[in-house]
Amino acid sequence: MILPPHLTVRGGHLHIGEHDAVDLVERFGTPLYVTDDARIRRNFRRLSGALITHYPEVRVLYAAKANGNLAILRTLASMGAGADVFSAGELALALSAGMRPDRLLFNGSSKSPSDLALAVETGVRVSVDSIDELQHLERAAGEAGTTVDIAFRVNPAIDVPTHPKIATGLATSKFGIPADEILNAYRHALAAEHINPVGIHCHIGSQILDVEPFAREVEVLIEVTRDLIDIGVDLSFIDIGGGLGIPYRRETDRAPTPEDYAGAVMPVFLRGIHELGIEPELWVEPGRWLVADSTILLARVNSVKIAHKAFANIDAGFNLLARPVMYDSYHEVVAGNKADMPAVREYTIAGPICETGDILAEDRMLPDLVAGDIIAVLDAGAYGFAMSSQYNSRPRCAEVILSGEEAALMRRAETIDDLVALMEVPPWQA
Ligand SMILES: *Cc1c(COP(=O)(O)O)cnc(C)c1O
Repeated sequence: MILPPHLTVRGGHLHIGEHDAVDLVERFGTPLYVTDDARIRRNFRRLSGALITHYPEVRVLYAAKANGNLAILRTLASMGAGADVFSAGELALALSAGMRPDRLLFNGSSKSPSDLALAVETGVRVSVDSIDELQHLERAAGEAGTTVDIAFRVNPAIDVPTHPKIATGLATSKFGIPADEILNAYRHALAAEHINPVGIHCHIGSQILDVEPFAREVEVLIEVTRDLIDIGVDLSFIDIGGGLGIPYRRETDRAPTPEDYAGAVMPVFLRGIHELGIEPELWVEPGRWLVADSTILLARVNSVKIAHKAFANIDAGFNLLARPVMYDSYHEVVAGNKADMPAVREYTIAGPICETGDILAEDRMLPDLVAGDIIAVLDAGAYGFAMSSQYNSRPRCAEVILSGEEAALMRRAETIDDLVALMEVPPWQA
């Protein structure tokens, strides 16, 4: 398998950055998420660099839902990233990581009254998802005696080649305002006393391995912007969302590079704004592309069972990595302590959860496995820990971050005490 440069095999062991995966699990236990900080920095530089080459006024807003650990948010904040936040929690984390409020966009199709109040209070920009929500926001801003800068999220009605659960720009999706109603929404915003429409926002989906839909998306946004100028909206930013995919199947997936992405999107954007005579900031919201390949999930083999096929039963399942069961996702796996041994048998990598669907990887050629071996699941940095649960009353595992020679916890493992810490005894059981 072709490994990315921060993953190497030395002395038969998988290494991430400078660190031997076997040493890491001896020190921190399993299961264990391990993130290479340098890889995130490199990814950020590469993606932002590819766009900025075409146009200086690019702002990268990391989609915080992909991986919300504060250590990762701090790293990205230190590089100048803002964030796309989808909840009060993500907003609080982004601010506490040191991100500037003016580099945050509060997104969401179902914001509560307290979400709107928080947006008003913190002064972040809000991506408004309906005219009804606009009216609630107008009231919240009025009560606070202030004005809120907003964008509307446009539903561009674009079909994208990805898993249906992560295609967000379909005409039938729950997100955004249909393009033919968007002018009406901006008219409402122009008329609202405490609302300042300054941007336009769109996000067509995730794990997209073709750049053409992004170019079409930008075309739609430019067309809408043309109409917005006519009704007197002065846009300071156009936000094209995230969604750039990565090659999870490292042998066969053909994934666009950031340069391919920029090469498809930027000419359309630049031609459009030039014709319109405007120079708005271009905002992008990558999540997966910045963090997915920075992280591996390390797990230990509990037992091997040769049944109708060979199962390697490991100590991590969809409680820790939900993508395979949720999206039928593929993740490469490596035998971390036998990484140079010949692959001799097909194994299905099964988790410890009491569900038939708890399979992390199916029918993979691997070296002979025995209890105690280490399995590394690659590209687990996006929508991995972030979507974990305590299902089956399993405490979540630790997360470690690496920086050069150093390795440190960025989240300790939960304990059984943590499982019960939030539970209350009803008075009649006391
Ligand atoms: C999830 C999400 C993103 C990031 O998507 P990726 O595929 O991880 O790049 C960006 N913007 C919005 C609004 C999102 O919901």
